[in-house]
Amino acid sequence: MATVTVVGSINLDLVAACPRLPRPGETVLASDLARYPGGKGANQALAAARAGADVILVGAVGDDPEADAALALLRESNVDLSRVIVSAAPTGIALITVDESGENQIVVVPGANATLTAEQIDASGADVVLCQLEIPDEAVLAAGRTATGLFCVNAAPARPLGEEILDRVDVVIVNEGEREALADELAHTSALVVVTLGAAGAKAYRSGRLVAEAIPPSVDPVDTVGAGDAFCGAFVTALGGGASVATALAWGCAAGALATTRPGAQPSLPTASEIEGILNR
Ligand code: ADP
Repeated sequence: MATVTVVGSINLDLVAACPRLPRPGETVLASDLARYPGGKGANQALAAARAGADVILVGAVGDDPEADAALALLRESNVDLSRVIVSAAPTGIALITVDESGENQIVVVPGANATLTAEQIDASGADVVLCQLEIPDEAVLAAGRTATGLFCVNAAPARPLGEEILDRVDVVIVNEGEREALADELAHTSALVVVTLGAAGAKAYRSGRLVAEAIPPSVDPVDTVGAGDAFCGAFVTALGGGASVATALAWGCAAGALATTRPGAQPSLPTASEIEGILNR
């Protein structure tokens, strides 16, 4: 079983369903408010655990009831939360408004996620360390410095990685928009660059040359939220377990595709047997 340490964000998503999105200064009444665990770090930690990895999550929450709700599904999946720091700042919150057509507006209040410091990060020991960019740069840098296994960065939301991360990183995972935003930096890294392409699957490049690709199984998507997180968790789990890049891409694509067939981010993440099942179909 691969051991995966995820260093990343932990949020509680508050989702208000509205007939339409408010204009600036306008008040709109919502028909419903739902609370879901979220944050790319937490989502990808759960994705890796469901895909069969032994997972440690390094992150920060507040000393508040929101933290329990944010960590509930991770606890159920036996993700090791002993390195989740309880900060003086509140648990990160994403305020999400969704209209009837599925269009959304999102405001993220990072809270505790923004307080993570380099000294709090120890990512040593795992086969794979996986970060996203919803935590401070110094936390990502510390993850790379302390990682003893493969160091993978999902560059989402996109912002410049900087020289030290580019030199250290083994695998960068981006979607098409992130690849465009980071084109200059990605042109100058010797890391494996994995680009996810929605329904078209994913491709892996080294020094600009295609080294492997995978196409997802065909599915009927109902909600693409969480597809990228499912991909990242399953891809690093396979790679950390010794699979080839091509096999790991196939695992990531199968997990991403399965995640689109169910609503929500964390509840939609598939298990290893579901991934194997759809790959053998
Ligand atoms: P993000 O959600 O980060 O923008 P993508 O849209 O590229 O990322 O989706 C990640 C992965 O999920 C894709 O590589 C693909 O394997 C899978 N996926 C996403 N959308 C679909 C879809 N409509 N049909 C099948 N697979 C999908």
